[in-house]
Amino acid sequence: MPATKPCVFCGIVAGTTPADVVLDEPDLVGFLDVRPVFHGHVLLVPREHVETLPDLPAGLRDGFFEAAQRLAVAVKTGLGAQGSFVAMNNTVSQSVPHLHLHVVPRTKGDGLRGFFWPRTTYADGEAADVAARLRAALADADPSDMS
Ligand code: AMP
Ligand code: ZN
Repeated sequence: MPATKPCVFCGIVAGTTPADVVLDEPDLVGFLDVRPVFHGHVLLVPREHVETLPDLPAGLRDGFFEAAQRLAVAVKTGLGAQGSFVAMNNTVSQSVPHLHLHVVPRTKGDGLRGFFWPRTTYADGEAADVAARLRAALADADPSDMS
């Protein structure tokens, strides 16, 4: 269902709002969070404007979580993360009402604890570089990295 109010993520999906896109597929888009918890923090969204997880059409479910798996691999192979934190706010604490899955690169000792999300920024050119490394990792993905 189209958004009833202007939606920033619909703008990114349409290409009218700038973003560092790492994954661009018929049903899904992945892009860097503008205020990342850590560099390489990606938001995965369905192109279709749906608000929360229960609204995700069944036909998009497998593809959405398969892409999440690929991103969880890409932050390791592309950015050298040891793992990832994958999360979604639904309605409560959800600041953008277009469904989005956070995929955050994690490294042991990175200081992330509990449910407080620290935020950082990118210096000029850094986001483009991180996005390019993630795109390359996604393009080179080894299917044996996923079951
Ligand atoms: P949530 O609070 O779980 O709804 O997450 C929304 C996320 O969207 C936050 O982490 C924001 O930093 C991020 N965000 C908001 N606007 C943009 C934008 N234009 N481009 C990229 N990320 C954005
Ligand atoms: Zn939207």
